[in-house]
Amino acid sequence: MEEALGPPSVMAEKAEELTPMLSQYLELCERYDDALVLFQVGDFYETFCEAAEVTARILEITLTQREDSTGTYPMAGIPIDSAESYIETLLDAGFRVAVADQVQEPEETTGLVDRAVTRVVTPGTLTETELLADADNNFVACLTDGYGLALLDVSTGEFYATRLDRPEAVEAELERFDPAEAVVGPEAPTDPFDDGCMVTPYERSAFEPETARETVEAYFGSTSLASEAEVRACGALLAYAEYARGTTTDGDGERLDYITHLTRYDPREYMLLDAVALRSLEVFEPRHVHGLEGAALVETLDETACALGGRRLRSWLRRPLLDAGRIDARLDAVEALLERVGDRERARKLLADVYDLERLVSRVSRGRADARDLRALESTLSVVPDLRGCVADAAADSDLLADIHEALDDCPEVRELIDRAVVESPPIEITDGGVIREGYDDRLDELRATEREGKAWIDDLEARERERTGVDSLKVGHNSVHGYYIEVTNPNLDAVPDDYERRQTLKNAERFYTPELKEREDEILGATERADELEYELFRGLRTETAAATERIQATAAAVARLDALCSLATVAARYDYCRPTVGAVGEASDASRPSSPPDASGGIDVEGGRHPVVERTEEAFVPNPTELSADRPMAVVTGPNMSGKSTYMRQVALLCVMAQLGSFVPAERAELPVVDRVFTRVGASDDIAGGRSTFMVEMTELAAILENAGPDSLVVLDEVGRGTSTTDGYAIAQAATEYLHDEVGAYTLFATHHHELTDVAADLPRARNLHFSADRTADGVAFDHDLREGPATASYGVEVADMAGVPPRVVERADALLDEGADADDGLARPTTPTASTASTDGGELPEKLRAELRAVDLADTTPLEALNLLARLKERAE
Ligand code: ADP
Repeated sequence: MEEALGPPSVMAEKAEELTPMLSQYLELCERYDDALVLFQVGDFYETFCEAAEVTARILEITLTQREDSTGTYPMAGIPIDSAESYIETLLDAGFRVAVADQVQEPEETTGLVDRAVTRVVTPGTLTETELLADADNNFVACLTDGYGLALLDVSTGEFYATRLDRPEAVEAELERFDPAEAVVGPEAPTDPFDDGCMVTPYERSAFEPETARETVEAYFGSTSLASEAEVRACGALLAYAEYARGTTTDGDGERLDYITHLTRYDPREYMLLDAVALRSLEVFEPRHVHGLEGAALVETLDETACALGGRRLRSWLRRPLLDAGRIDARLDAVEALLERVGDRERARKLLADVYDLERLVSRVSRGRADARDLRALESTLSVVPDLRGCVADAAADSDLLADIHEALDDCPEVRELIDRAVVESPPIEITDGGVIREGYDDRLDELRATEREGKAWIDDLEARERERTGVDSLKVGHNSVHGYYIEVTNPNLDAVPDDYERRQTLKNAERFYTPELKEREDEILGATERADELEYELFRGLRTETAAATERIQATAAAVARLDALCSLATVAARYDYCRPTVGAVGEASDASRPSSPPDASGGIDVEGGRHPVVERTEEAFVPNPTELSADRPMAVVTGPNMSGKSTYMRQVALLCVMAQLGSFVPAERAELPVVDRVFTRVGASDDIAGGRSTFMVEMTELAAILENAGPDSLVVLDEVGRGTSTTDGYAIAQAATEYLHDEVGAYTLFATHHHELTDVAADLPRARNLHFSADRTADGVAFDHDLREGPATASYGVEVADMAGVPPRVVERADALLDEGADADDGLARPTTPTASTASTDGGELPEKLRAELRAVDLADTTPLEALNLLARLKERAE
């Protein structure tokens, strides 16, 4: 990120003598001292002095000089026509950009034209379509001391506020919302923001409790915000959004009228997925495992047809519900749509024609919509009645769909107005005419008629003049410098009548005009100019009138968004054969498979034939597995060789809970699930190597957070805890954590471990059980069946996996022999007894001394699987 530029120092020094234009520039630079000011001069945006040097360097454009009576200054300029792409480059380089436009026509003044910053472009406050990377939300966050957090998408008007209690909670919220920029108040922490997020310290005064409250009340009337920290965050954020909006040229107020709702939420109302869990479950972002990129959960659920639905689905995924009633309402809707294939398919076809209503309406409200935006608005609203038709039937089976049906309002007056006023395919420019339909405004029609008549008169002029002069080659033409002319070639000049006035001399011809032609021409020009102006005025009126319907259009947009998200869930459920889960119901725990459950025990996790929603799409033959973690036996230790499917399975259980609580069907034959309040994950150190922090320290910090925050309704997934330290330490920690979770926390817990001894611990704990994945030893190594079974694993097959991975036979053989010795000496690890062809000839003594030394130097307890693989790769290379 670049340093803030501030006002140019050379200019500041001689502010007194600067030309009026440069003092205007200097003034704007001082006002917007944390931004790069782009200063309109005619068709260009200019920058001067230091700013010019930086601009030229970053945009790779020429640095020139500007000379005037007060000196010579470096200058760099970009054409206004292509400004957006340059602005994007400046943003990428870490700048905020203040766009200072001429807000007065040069003809209107004898002196300096007025200029004003009409927008400040920052990563978090983008509204131009060209700059917004995609349809996803683009949030700007605001954080105060005391952890008041507000989040605003300036492009859509979505606005959220909450109050958090600790830095970790802040981090989790930021992970979910992934803001592009964070406005921070005095004393607010800046460390929870990641590298991709621009941190913007903002005026202290905006954070003052009284000021902030006034700002919030100006938007939403009295505030229902619970804490002062929230009020300050919201007030300051609104102030910042207004600042970024700049001065409007339309003369509207500074308010952002399309920000009509503030959603105040308590993170405790939603399933809490902390930052670590979101990442390890790959909810929004796939992890890069060994350079391969998988898919994230969000992608596997996203069959939305329009931008509105895509954003809504993401927002549901950010905050899975805790209220069983609300979850069921969404599931009802999904089911109703699932059953009505025809309606659903028709709805999806219609949804594909829907423009981004939320962004459209915010552009309309900000006075930035062009004629094409209004047409897009009209065409989207015109789809709404048919869309209503598609849910009419399903609404009978779902309250949520009934609400959506009710809320789908095509705003007929708005449609009618736009349709009557704006031509069908208007130009991009709204100031050059061609926008307003005939018949909309009498004055305009008159002007256009004058224009047409004049042109018709000119069109006929050629024939008339030919006849009058008898010159058949006489031509009437037009060019931009001289306007209309009558052209007569040199040989015919004798025939030119007296009223022809010479306009231009060419090599072979002369061009003339007549007083009448001149008069007509002036008439046409005058009419065109006035018509264009009038059209612009009419268009702005139209835009303001449309903006009056902002809230209604937003309500329709919200209904469309929900419908699309629900259709997406229904489509995925149908396509991938998901089942409707029961969530949070009291379990009918009387079935024979769980004789130990008392009849009134509440649900627990009871899944038959569960699948991992992401892995099943890529794995040719995915093996479904059951899950049974009842409230009175909520813990399982999962063992099995590497690659047998442990972590896939554990993540699958967590993902099923997340999916169900956002209202989705789940990949399973049958699923009864509790309402899980939080999902915690701690995945193996080996999976997190890229971070470069002390893996053990990271692991322990995460474990501490889990043990401290998990409760009986939480789901805890632990994968290989204790791997980052020596075996003894690691095992001790794993055992202690298991016991604590079992005795004190009682959370639904899945614990995968390579510490085989832990299976004995689990066997002794009354509310825990052992589960395992096994493997079959085959002639060429091992084969995994990915089939989950009761009881502890009996072998780890690590050596066979090494063999399969291409470790030189000698090393494999030696390892086998060592293991056999070890097995004789102690330990619970039974070795499979099937001899392989190679074990018979094993003789460790044959290993070259150098290799032995190298292997001895390896501390297995302190070696991650990745490091081991790298070592083997090096050995293999030498062997070849
Ligand atoms: P572990 O955690 O035991 O080392 P993983 O869960 O990483 O094993 O799975 C290893 C491989 O097996 C992965 O490539 C995965 O795609 C595949 N796999 C896991 N579970 C299944 C399953 N139930 N059916 C089919 N393939 C699976």
